[in-house]
Amino acid sequence: MATLVFFGRPASGKGTLAQRLSDDWGYRACSTGQTMRAWAAGPSAEQRALRTAMASGGYGSDELAVRIVREFIAALPDHVAGVILDGFPRDLAQLDAWLGTGADHGIGVIVDTPEDVCRERVLGRMVCDACGWTDHQPVTMCARCGSKLQRRTDDADAAVFDRRIGDYDRRVVPIIDAWTQAGLPLLRVDGTRGVDELAGELLGLLAGLDAPGPDGSCPRPREGVAALG
Ligand SMILES: [Zn+2]
Repeated sequence: MATLVFFGRPASGKGTLAQRLSDDWGYRACSTGQTMRAWAAGPSAEQRALRTAMASGGYGSDELAVRIVREFIAALPDHVAGVILDGFPRDLAQLDAWLGTGADHGIGVIVDTPEDVCRERVLGRMVCDACGWTDHQPVTMCARCGSKLQRRTDDADAAVFDRRIGDYDRRVVPIIDAWTQAGLPLLRVDGTRGVDELAGELLGLLAGLDAPGPDGSCPRPREGVAALG
């Protein structure tokens, strides 16, 4: 079973891609928050402690988060094609904890969508006041009821987008750099395309990764990492 670690800017299309792989290709998305909340609902003292920490906005230790995600993956039934981690590891410390466990570290997948395309996807949003349908510029007519779409973007939306893009540059890009330095496999797909093409490209790249090399060996991630960023 493949473990895919997704990276991408806000509105890169990685969420849609994860959904499509889950719906049609036998993958399972792992939401770290949801998985940790489910674990923390259990009866042990450790689970109760995490429940208390999360209730006041905490996350528990990186080692615990890694253990919970590993347990989630290990418990998946055999027919699951792969698991998709999105937003995990969330920072360099958590990546370090993830790589420190020595198990399968997974295959990184960058859904590569330029910032201006992401911005247009978020801020070019058009909404139908009549039926609630949403679309994107340059579409101006509702595909569901035919009403005129209204632009639904204000300064607050732009500020939120700027903050999320800034967070990607500051927090996620260093994770990708460290991932690369650790010699872990990293695939890149073109997020400007439709979700079907995107899924097709990624599945093709994954199939290529599984193919034996010229010497009959499969590409394997290096174990451990000397230094992280
Ligand atoms: Zn409508």
